[in-house]
Amino acid sequence: MSEGIVTASYVGATVLFILALGGLSNPETSRRGNLYGMLGMAIALIATISGVTANIAILIAALVVGGSIGLVLARRVQMTEMPELVAILHSLVGMAAVLVGFANFMDPNVHFTGVELTIHDIETYLGILIGAITFSGSVIAFGKLSGKITGNPMLLPARHWLNLGLLIASIYFCVLFVDQSAAGGGMMPLLIMTGIALLFGIHMVMAIGGADMPVVVSMLNSYSGWAAAATGFMLSNDLLIVTGALVGSSGAILSYIMCRAMNRKFLAVIAGGFGTTTGGSSASAEEQGEVVALQPAEVASLLKESKQVVIIPGYGMAVAQAQHIVCEITKSLRAKKVNVRFAIHPVAGRMPGHMNVLLAEAKVPYDIVFEMDEINDDFPDVDVAIVIGANDIVNPSAQTDPNSPIAGMPVLECWKAETTIVLKRSMATGYAGVQNPLFFKENTRMLFGDARTSLDEVFKNL
Ligand code: NDP
Repeated sequence: MSEGIVTASYVGATVLFILALGGLSNPETSRRGNLYGMLGMAIALIATISGVTANIAILIAALVVGGSIGLVLARRVQMTEMPELVAILHSLVGMAAVLVGFANFMDPNVHFTGVELTIHDIETYLGILIGAITFSGSVIAFGKLSGKITGNPMLLPARHWLNLGLLIASIYFCVLFVDQSAAGGGMMPLLIMTGIALLFGIHMVMAIGGADMPVVVSMLNSYSGWAAAATGFMLSNDLLIVTGALVGSSGAILSYIMCRAMNRKFLAVIAGGFGTTTGGSSASAEEQGEVVALQPAEVASLLKESKQVVIIPGYGMAVAQAQHIVCEITKSLRAKKVNVRFAIHPVAGRMPGHMNVLLAEAKVPYDIVFEMDEINDDFPDVDVAIVIGANDIVNPSAQTDPNSPIAGMPVLECWKAETTIVLKRSMATGYAGVQNPLFFKENTRMLFGDARTSLDEVFKNL
């Protein structure tokens, strides 16, 4: 491929990536957005590979191995494991940035002098730094999301000082690296900084409590973009710079949205310490009281008699894979002239947009799916609010208990409906590990059991 065609392909791929992001911002256009993204990536890969002249066999072998692993993983992964998969994929982007950084640094064919060398060194240093933080942070996020590592925050004494120390050390080693690199060395400061960055990534994510994990996921998404952009600078690859910047900035916007959804300050989340279980929340666990359980037939008749129903899906709906039966029930109720709407909390499930993806998969019409802000004021007029495997996002203690780890997080105020029905298997807590006073309210009814099995029964009774 001539250089002109490669450049044109890169521009085409960039435009497709921008269209992909635009498409993904709305459920109705997200399929198209995905297609644009896939097409853009295919063009980018072909254009990049066509420019390679040496070691083609190794490249093809790596592509086949990497592609096959990706294919098998994506086919095997359960919808509930998607957030973990995303986290571990972020870690691969980080690792790639680190490896490319070292390879580039050791490449005898890369010659720079004077200011250019300094700029290139800083690009290399930043690429490896961000890559290493992304790598270790994402591995810990993977562990936390898959339950292999406890969701409780690990709070070291003087952790802010530790972070500050690591930051100062990184700056010091950067200066050392640039100095030594001018004299033909620099490997040692680079290696030490990599160790520091790996530690920082681990410490940063370990210190974040379960309830704040959504911000971590979107933040690591952003970091992986910046790591890719830094790699693009190192390799002088414009497409990688632009793509990395797109991922980095969209991830940053997502982090901002997640912070706003949880009423948190970004810097405070990064500094860690939120999501700590304190005495206050265990107190609310003690003042439990009675819960009233219903049978599926009773739930069905309550639903049939209602005019306004709001369905609140949560992580449990994903676990139970109940989205299809939820859609069937919705159709059946709508046919009976019941107004059924869905209320989606921004952090419901385990990844941004998790519930939207499940509902879209089950072909629930988009026009009855509402964001929290659009529907929260309507609950007083709702006859039945039905909570399907959600817990933290409907926890009133976020508003009433200042000591709760989720204090201040906006929640769906379903208890204001005439009756709230909660579907879950037991009295277990949600991801943040806090008891939920909603279950003990006078107008709350519980339907215990796996959400799909319970809803199958409800559907039969409808
Ligand atoms: P939660 O994790 O708070 O609650 C889920 C509930 O579903 C549990 O209480 C569980 O209770 C129930 N459940 C699990 N499996 C089933 C099943 N098969 N059938 C019926 N019920 C089931 O989920 P929410 O969606 O309410 O809240 C999301 C939480 O995850 C928030 O704390 C959020 O901060 C966090 N988070 C969100 C991320 C995101 O990006 N959206 C990322 C990381 C974390 P039981 O075991 O009794 O059945």
